[in-house]
Amino acid sequence: MTSFFTPFREAYGELADLNATLQVLSWDQQTCMPPKGAEVRARQMATLEGILHEKVIDPRWDDLLAEARARADELTADERAFVREFRLERERRVKLPTALVKELALAQAEGFEAWHSARRKSEFSLFAPCLERLLSLTRQKADCFGWTETPWNALVEDFERGMTAARLREIFAPLETALPALVERIRSAPQVPIRFLAQKWNTARQREFNERVARDLGYDFEAGRLDIAPHPFTTDFGIRDVRITTRYNENSCLDSLSGTIHETGHALFEQGFRGEDERTLLAASPSYGVHESQSRFWEIFIGQSRPFWEHYLPILRQYFPGQLTDVDAETMYRAINRVEPSLIRVDADEVTYNLHILIRFNIELDLLDGRLTVRDLPAEWNRRYRALLGVDVPDDARGCLQDVHWAYGSFSYFPSYTLGNMYAAMLAEAMERDRPMLREDVAAGRFAGILEWLREKIHRVGRRMEAIPLIEQATGECVGSEALLRHLTRKYADIYRLPTIANPSPEGRKEAANNPARKNEKT
Ligand code: ZN
Repeated sequence: MTSFFTPFREAYGELADLNATLQVLSWDQQTCMPPKGAEVRARQMATLEGILHEKVIDPRWDDLLAEARARADELTADERAFVREFRLERERRVKLPTALVKELALAQAEGFEAWHSARRKSEFSLFAPCLERLLSLTRQKADCFGWTETPWNALVEDFERGMTAARLREIFAPLETALPALVERIRSAPQVPIRFLAQKWNTARQREFNERVARDLGYDFEAGRLDIAPHPFTTDFGIRDVRITTRYNENSCLDSLSGTIHETGHALFEQGFRGEDERTLLAASPSYGVHESQSRFWEIFIGQSRPFWEHYLPILRQYFPGQLTDVDAETMYRAINRVEPSLIRVDADEVTYNLHILIRFNIELDLLDGRLTVRDLPAEWNRRYRALLGVDVPDDARGCLQDVHWAYGSFSYFPSYTLGNMYAAMLAEAMERDRPMLREDVAAGRFAGILEWLREKIHRVGRRMEAIPLIEQATGECVGSEALLRHLTRKYADIYRLPTIANPSPEGRKEAANNPARKNEKT
């Protein structure tokens, strides 16, 4: 290690420790804490957040960063990447006045409470004043960062650095045109049978099966654990302690499994960072979209694939004797992939999910740019659901109050979900080009090669690269929604036996300018 860099590394290590400690408190809060512990826990976490914030903006970092800049030549490439990431992150923190940070924290706490009771009573007006306040503070926050075109662009930097609303509009445009048409074709086709799923599924057995699948995929239970949480999530306290959660419902054997595989995907990413990156900023994802690509890759491209069910259906039968006797792998595959436009984003299928995101993306822009008032939000929400998904929203609880994000003051986060789907589709295509045995591997329950491919292309890189260059380097393609559309069109034409239509992306694959994959391609 470069000697003058040691103080920098150790100072950052302390920030990483504090942050991990906050994660432990948060994990406990969401999995085991008794309800009466909530109040004091909120105080404990706020105190730690305050200490962390003070430590990040500490002026002593100015000297450490100045020295790192002046002696950049003496640093290794990894150290330079570490400094760059920290500098960018700290610059944003320093721009926010402490008074605004505190006011936002308070508004978020109140917003969450108000949202919770508004949703319970399905009455948007109870949340509206809080949302007004959150929006106004969020605009102030964006002003502190500085922005062009829309304040939304300043906020998205926390999730997808370098992305803008204009670029996203361009990337999402093909989805907005093609997906409603695909949904329409699916709806007019004969529906897939799902009645066999309407049984009671012992939750203890579900849990055993989920653990088995997570282990098979490569999740290391010596460096993690699987618990129950009402809103499933993954958290890490270090590379060797990455925890996942899921929730069980005895009326469904597939929901907890999808949740487990999704969180396993997030966790495999975290368990796959390089050991030497521990307590540095390199052991992290370059963006939320990239993180989501890992969860969606395993959940959709592996866990909802035909070969996966060829392998796992006989195993699942052993966990639920007599319950799946008449079901074959093809029936299971079609059932798990059924498409049905619905009201709730988190329950949505793979095709309609992105439409839920597009609606939120457009509404956020309208709110932040002042084209839409908070008062008119429910009506606008309902109008867009009817137009894009063809469903009528019966009440606000199942409408604009369903997600917690805005109550937390989190604007511009939603597109990360669709970016994750796009990146996952691009990675799946690239992997198939690189690994012609992919299908056979999944059908035989062999996942090590698949995981190793992701480890090499994504996990071990961590935050050394930014999101878009990382995905383009891994896939040899320009980032766009074409791969996702190709995947959805092909897969659902097959499942619903739709008559063939023209290729959804006439230009075909768009290769990245600096295409590392091209060298290996056979023409
Ligand atoms: Zn996720």
